[in-house]
Amino acid sequence: MKNLSEIPRIPLAVLPTPLYRLPNVSAALHTNVYIKRDDMTGVSLGGNKVRKLEYLLHDAKAQGADTVLTTGGAQSNHAMLTAACANKLGMHAVLILKKRGVWERRGNQILNDLLGADVRFVDTDDYADIYAQMDDICAALDKQGRKGYRIPVGGSVPLGSLGYVRCVYELAEQAAATHTRFSHIVCATGSGGTHAGLALGAKLYLPDCKVTGIMVDDDPFDRIVPDLMRKTASLLDYREPIADADVRLLGMVGPGYAKPSAEGQAAIRMLAENEGLILDPVYTGKAFAGLLKMAREGAFTPDDNVVFLHSGGAGGLFAIS
Ligand SMILES: *Cc1c(COP(=O)(O)O)cnc(C)c1O
Repeated sequence: MKNLSEIPRIPLAVLPTPLYRLPNVSAALHTNVYIKRDDMTGVSLGGNKVRKLEYLLHDAKAQGADTVLTTGGAQSNHAMLTAACANKLGMHAVLILKKRGVWERRGNQILNDLLGADVRFVDTDDYADIYAQMDDICAALDKQGRKGYRIPVGGSVPLGSLGYVRCVYELAEQAAATHTRFSHIVCATGSGGTHAGLALGAKLYLPDCKVTGIMVDDDPFDRIVPDLMRKTASLLDYREPIADADVRLLGMVGPGYAKPSAEGQAAIRMLAENEGLILDPVYTGKAFAGLLKMAREGAFTPDDNVVFLHSGGAGGLFAIS
């Protein structure tokens, strides 16, 4: 198997992100809850996509690209962070977004404007239409002697997931430094790359730790996540079998993707009131609601050490609520 450090990346994030125990939440849930602050990755308003982009944008540069193209919903944190990271590297970003939900100049759209991103809306529900448009834009760039690099929705491709394999390596170092044995990691599962990276990373560096992804949309993650884990594993020449049944999922989508849920909004208030920390309504609020549900249903003992991944989302908070 390869060493993770053999796969090149461009440092973009401020790492390691902070990790610490939440005393008030821990007391309320009768277990030990820690927060991994990937909302503080240090580019724009922070968030999980920066770790993925360290690998993806290295690949883009290595291929000679000067422009990155990506997609998502109108309030995509991933698209906004791609534009921010591209700026840091002197690259141009084209964001081809679904004209759905809040596409006015609010939330992440304000940030995209400030970042100078080239935003193009497509009136479609189908990413196939968007990818066709991306191909056209890349062909047009080619004719101008420029080069585009396509990043699929969420950056949830094997190379992007390596960012979250590396996050678990970082967690294992933080665990060793503080003599803490982490038993669980809970994250939001939106396109699956973060979950796949964490689950593979746990197999490699924290084998006693169980990763649970809280689904915030309706995609078939029971197939998507293990598939992405296997493809990410093959980048590292990791050959151990990865079974679909290894993947732990809990559905908390509520009324729909990017639509606030009652449980999610209550979870946001719970963390805000107890710890002074802010989650977002699309991803992390629903993910934390999933953690609260697991606690209620007896998933954690008083000796467990549970890490909640705060994956960001601040930009959307000011558009969706
Ligand atoms: C994209 C995103 C997620 C989900 O990560 P995936 O790798 O797409 O599953 C979670 N939280 C926030 C804030 C995000 O922007």
